[in-house]
Amino acid sequence: MTDCIFCKIIAGEIPSAKVFEDDLIFVFNDINPKAAVHLLVIPKQHIARLDHLDQSHQELIAHMFLKLPELAQSQSLKTGFRTIINTGPGGGQEVDHLHIHLLGGKNLPGFH
Ligand code: 5GP
Ligand code: ZN
Repeated sequence: MTDCIFCKIIAGEIPSAKVFEDDLIFVFNDINPKAAVHLLVIPKQHIARLDHLDQSHQELIAHMFLKLPELAQSQSLKTGFRTIINTGPGGGQEVDHLHIHLLGGKNLPGFH
């Protein structure tokens, strides 16, 4: 998607603080962190939102989720972390490229 900022970040057209990259995913620091550690984990394939996923994405989604504990460990989030996926305007999604927020760094307040 040529007009997607996260696709541009993956392509290196917009600079970012990259934390991890492989064939399927790209991980970088959120530009406006809401916690001491705030990463965004995104698929390299442009998928706009969580409710656009289908069976063909199983391997990709498993890969994204299984990477989360590894990333948390690499960020020294020893006591735990929070993951968030906002979906659509009703869910507070502002960038229409699927992303998992990974937050932590000190004890976060409960989210109820
Ligand atoms: P959403 O509200 O869509 O779930 O979250 C989008 C996130 O992307 C926000 O936390 C915002 O700070 C982050 N963000 C938006 N534009 C950029 C950017 O150009 N670079 C980086 N690193 N993060 C961005
Ligand atoms: Zn995109």
